[in-house]
Amino acid sequence: MRYKRILLKLSGESLMGKMQYGIDPERLNDYAVQIKEMAQAGVQIGIVIGGGNIFRGVSGAAKGFERVKGDQMGMLATVINSLALCSALESIGAKARVLTAVRMEPIGEFYSKTRALECLEKGEICIFSCGTGAPYFTTDTGSSLRGIEIEADVMLKGTRVDGIYTADPEKDPTAVRFDEITYDEIYRRGLKVMDLTATTMCKENNLPIVVFNMDVKGNLKKVLTEGGIGTLVHN
Ligand code: UDP
Repeated sequence: MRYKRILLKLSGESLMGKMQYGIDPERLNDYAVQIKEMAQAGVQIGIVIGGGNIFRGVSGAAKGFERVKGDQMGMLATVINSLALCSALESIGAKARVLTAVRMEPIGEFYSKTRALECLEKGEICIFSCGTGAPYFTTDTGSSLRGIEIEADVMLKGTRVDGIYTADPEKDPTAVRFDEITYDEIYRRGLKVMDLTATTMCKENNLPIVVFNMDVKGNLKKVLTEGGIGTLVHN
């Protein structure tokens, strides 16, 4: 294994699969199977899931919701997704638990680094929900924060494209993929990999990121064993 402890970031939108909204059980199960296999192989896995398939604070604010309340709605959306993934993992026999950045027992246990490490070291998959627990942040920043806190070796950002490109490959056919890139180059080129707060936290704390296509079955395993797929971001 190339990494012993990872922080896996999954966007809420990726859980939609072919649907327009909400959670696609088939996609959820595909993810759960891949994640369980890696946990069984001994990788300690922390996961942060977004909430964009259900609610985003910024778009809520555009529709007239007060921003902080909208962000709290977004954080609750991440809890729904986290419970769904936890349930999917448990249904195939994996050990998983949801920790929440905002207190809401008995839905999930209140997050602390100590508790997270205890669970990870026991081989449980830890799903960190509510992002950072504060409004005006994103789950990308939440995953940078948790990745740094749990001293993960890498943050794996699962997306629907197979890495970082010079331009959006879905719009520009001449776009070229980077095998690796520095955080500074991302700033210089204005690439939209994650929001700047999330990228800066990783840069300042030396947490490398691998951006890869999580929707291709077996890719998570490839990143963790052979490498050579996706784009590695480093200092
Ligand atoms: N959110 C927040 N603070 C955080 C993380 C998330 O307020 O630390 C809210 C914010 O409104 C955001 C929503 O939760 O729009 C869903 O998260 P995000 O947009 O990051 O989800 P993704 O795009 O990854 O699905």
